[in-house]
Amino acid sequence: MNTKHSDFLVIGAGSGGIAAARRAASYGAQVILIEGGKLGGTCVNVGCVPKKVMWNAAQIAHELQLAPDYGFSIPDGITVDWLALKSTRDRYVQHLNGVYRRMLETSHIHLVEGFARFTSPGTITVGNTSYTADHLLIATGGHAIVPDLPGAELGLTSDGFFDLTYQPKRAVIVGSGYIATELCGVLHLLGTEVTLVVRGTELLKDFDDMVRSALVDAMNEAEVDILHNQDLREVKQLSPGHLTLVGKHNREIGPFDTLFWAVGRAPNTSRLNLDICQVATDAAGHIIVDDYQNTSAPNMYAIGDVTGKARLTPVAIAAGRKLADRLFGGLPDAHLSYENIPTVVFSHPPIAAVGLTEQEAQDRYGLSAVKVYSANFRPMAYAVTTHSARTHMKVVTVGPQEKVVGIHLFGRGVDEIIQGFAVAVKMGATKADLDATVAIHPTSAEELVLLR
Ligand code: FAD
Ligand code: NDP
Repeated sequence: MNTKHSDFLVIGAGSGGIAAARRAASYGAQVILIEGGKLGGTCVNVGCVPKKVMWNAAQIAHELQLAPDYGFSIPDGITVDWLALKSTRDRYVQHLNGVYRRMLETSHIHLVEGFARFTSPGTITVGNTSYTADHLLIATGGHAIVPDLPGAELGLTSDGFFDLTYQPKRAVIVGSGYIATELCGVLHLLGTEVTLVVRGTELLKDFDDMVRSALVDAMNEAEVDILHNQDLREVKQLSPGHLTLVGKHNREIGPFDTLFWAVGRAPNTSRLNLDICQVATDAAGHIIVDDYQNTSAPNMYAIGDVTGKARLTPVAIAAGRKLADRLFGGLPDAHLSYENIPTVVFSHPPIAAVGLTEQEAQDRYGLSAVKVYSANFRPMAYAVTTHSARTHMKVVTVGPQEKVVGIHLFGRGVDEIIQGFAVAVKMGATKADLDATVAIHPTSAEELVLLR
């Protein structure tokens, strides 16, 4: 078998793998990048990018609902042409696939298209060729979980959502995390009747209580059907396009024409043959890494979703770049800090957060050290509309200096507000620093520097 050696061998051309490969190549490293699917990985093909196109479409539907209150004559019964929307979205994704291919070419990265697996410690095989390297990075991401239930195969995952050529009329989404919440909002605003099935009592359980309850209130107001404490046993197909979910005591929920599983994602490690090279994984299969993305095997590293740490595109990118800086850029201490990572859930309206929740701050610093400032108000865009969803804001501070350790937002436009405030949190801003900043009027963001 033919064997090729490089300075840096990267498995997975998703957000993290491409970023690491390009940064390493910029330092002059010889890089081989292996990809078994489409360039760009989850984010570009079945994640952030097509999701945001759908979220934007849903936002337009929302603006159309407001338009009559602003004096526009909008004909009744405006609907979205789902296939047209899908085609536009697919074209954009294909364009990005091409952009990535050209970027790899101009960076002089050798792309190998095929599925990689370990065949001996430190040796990766794709087809009939083996690859070795001074440094080997695993950036293989993850995939959606389908629960182990009779009839589960009748449901789609988020991947299937992006393949849909029709708009569901009556959809059920099982799950309570990012994807369940986002799918729910998009489908609902585009005109699908949506039921959300939650196994416990909470949505988005890692988020601050304030934003979670505001989200549930907004969903209830929008007449999204949320069923809590559901313990599913089976999925039945009564006839094509007629699915029911069967819960405890044979209670049936439905019928629905489309079922989506949004019950979490698992790392792409099971087919890599990691046992051969003694790369340790946790019980869920995530590769265990230290602060420097080192795995338990020498000269082998992992970044991104496959590690299970803060599974977000910018995190995979930042970790990949820092790793390349450390290995090839003469920056021996370069590594990503996983503190204060901002995040947005593209619900309707969106949620934005950075830092500790109020509860986390109390657990870490003690109840008496934590002081919270909050506000909720009707954003000006809704001052003249019948739609009146309120915006909620919370700033969590600690200690006598009132250092800001968390910001939690829910409402129109907060997705675009949080990034700048995340810089302030990262720099160690205090409540006094927020107070000392002159407001921009009239905006929702100004409320964050006017909290009393
Ligand atoms: P991936 O991007 O998944 O890339 C891994 C690559 O490795 C894939 O291309 C895969 O084909 C390849 N691969 C796997 N195994 C092998 C193998 N053995 N050989 C060769 N190639 C292999 N994050 C955000 O920050 N914002 C968002 O709005 C957002 N929305 C999302 C919406 C959805 C529906 C989903 C599913 C995810 C979303 N995410 C979002 C998360 C984000 O997509 C991931 O965190 C990010 O893509 C992880 O990057 P990665 O490089 O670790 O893995
Ligand atoms: P999450 O980990 O966010 O949520 C999974 C949810 O599934 C949990 O709420 C969990 O419930 C629930 N669940 C697990 N098993 C079952 C089951 N058998 N039946 C019913 N519910 C179940 O996963 P997602 O798949 O939504 O998203 C994966 C990751 O991708 C996210 O964590 C995030 O990092 C990233 N992502 C980021 C986005 C963004 O940045 N906007 C958008 C989409 C994804 P419970 O709470 O009870 O444990």
